Amino acid sequence: MDSIYKSLSEIVGERYVSNQPEELYIYSYDLGTTEPHRPDYVVAPRTTEEVQGVVKLANREKIPVVPLGGGLSLAGLAVPLRGGIALDLKRMDTIIEVNEKARHVVIECGVSQGQLISYLEKHHPNLRHSEPQAPTPATIVGNVAIHGQGDLAQSYGFNSDMVNGLEVVLPTGEVCKIGSCSVSPGWFTLHPLPDLGLFLGWFGTTGVITKLSLRLFPLKRIREMEQFLVEDAELVPEVIYKVTHTEMAEDIFAGTQTTVPARIGLHHIAIYITADSEKELEFKTGLIWDDALGEYIRNGDGGFADLPPPMKARFTARPGMLLSTVCDTVQGGGFEYVGGIMPVETYAECCRQGAKICSRHNIPQLLIARVIGRSHAMMFAWAYVFNRADPESVRQAREAVHETDDLVLELGGTIWKPGVYGQKLMMQRMDPNTLKLMKQVKELLDPNGIMNPGNWEVI
Ligand SMILES: Cc1cc2nc3c(=O)[nH]c(=O)nc-3n(C[C@H](O)[C@H](O)[C@H](O)COP(=O)(O)OP(=O)(O)OC[C@H]3O[C@@H](n4cnc5c(N)ncnc54)[C@H](O)[C@@H]3O)c2cc1C
Repeated sequence: MDSIYKSLSEIVGERYVSNQPEELYIYSYDLGTTEPHRPDYVVAPRTTEEVQGVVKLANREKIPVVPLGGGLSLAGLAVPLRGGIALDLKRMDTIIEVNEKARHVVIECGVSQGQLISYLEKHHPNLRHSEPQAPTPATIVGNVAIHGQGDLAQSYGFNSDMVNGLEVVLPTGEVCKIGSCSVSPGWFTLHPLPDLGLFLGWFGTTGVITKLSLRLFPLKRIREMEQFLVEDAELVPEVIYKVTHTEMAEDIFAGTQTTVPARIGLHHIAIYITADSEKELEFKTGLIWDDALGEYIRNGDGGFADLPPPMKARFTARPGMLLSTVCDTVQGGGFEYVGGIMPVETYAECCRQGAKICSRHNIPQLLIARVIGRSHAMMFAWAYVFNRADPESVRQAREAVHETDDLVLELGGTIWKPGVYGQKLMMQRMDPNTLKLMKQVKELLDPNGIMNPGNWEVI
């Protein structure tokens, strides 16, 4: 063990390696319900070459390596289930290049959501990326590695659909480039090269992404939000269909909860609109309010919530604060949500079943769905808060998470960023040839099984 510590110190410098219990403890858990597992070492490299050195050593010595950005993905995806090296990538935080005209940014893997937002605000005020409502220390790469979604999901899909190129350290230590950057100095597209989509959605089990190019989009000057309220959950998919038909909304959420008494029994559809001028805003709101929603108001099926300006400002703020502000309602810091990528028409059933799970486990109800694309799917989040200091509260939340994983598949969805339990469920249902291909890919890329073992483990 000492010789491993010494070798790691030689690669990254002694200051950036630790095997001290208090530091190992920090990396042993996340906010969710996964049982803690300590790593044997925490290593914080600064360069791709240092990542390469660590991975080569780990491959030679057959030591697990768990890449980690903010460690905020929940579901235990960056918890070192088999010990080994927690590879903390936060020091690799250089924003390498912004191409203003071609609207993309090339970053190192430790760049956080908050860092990119403030950098663009200062240096490229006309540009933005699709921001998840995750805490701002979460990294861009950690987010695309789990197919995250942000506030441009309505128009452009998952954040992982916005990747233009990657640099990856393979589990055997080679550095490999994916996309136009593999043949040219430009990091502007993944196409039309052969599909090498082997690194997104794999939770770090096929390599360490060290650099990434991400698409940027125009930042509009005005951001407005209205909440449309309906009682009948069955109406929600129809309302979403009509609003998305206008192609005027930037982001759409639907949801229901029991934490605000005045809202119990109601479903809100939060519609975000952006514009560069009052005229553009008026045009867009006119189409949504009148053409898409007018008939529901006339029929008495729905109406707008009267939100006080300070509350509206909280909703329209960037970075978005929505989940982060409501996720500790029982106090005690425990939070996990199961994301189901669901057909939009299952919304009402997702709410009904979600409410049952919450009431079975005595957890306040917080159900929220973000529309992906033009109603192509929704990311339905069943959120569970719990008190980390109370084992019974943790147990109830864990059971709720597992029951929800089962539910997602029963309702015909796929589990977003599944923990080990959800991964196993998905693999049990998977087409056997797809599963075989996953196994072959993993064995080819990671012959010694060192990368984030325990995740996507095909038996
Ligand atoms: C309150 C709250 C709200 C949230 N809201 C959203 C939301 O709106 N949208 C959303 O998408 N997510 C959301 N999340 C989930 C999550 O926080 C984000 O997706 C976040 O961006 C994950 O980034 P991270 O750096 O924390 O990832 P990590 O947890 O560090 O890593 C995620 C996974 O990727 C792997 N990984 C990390 N870095 C690398 C790398 N360089 N190479 C290879 N593999 C790597 C890890 O091993 C792990 O398996 C939310 C979370 C919370 C707590």
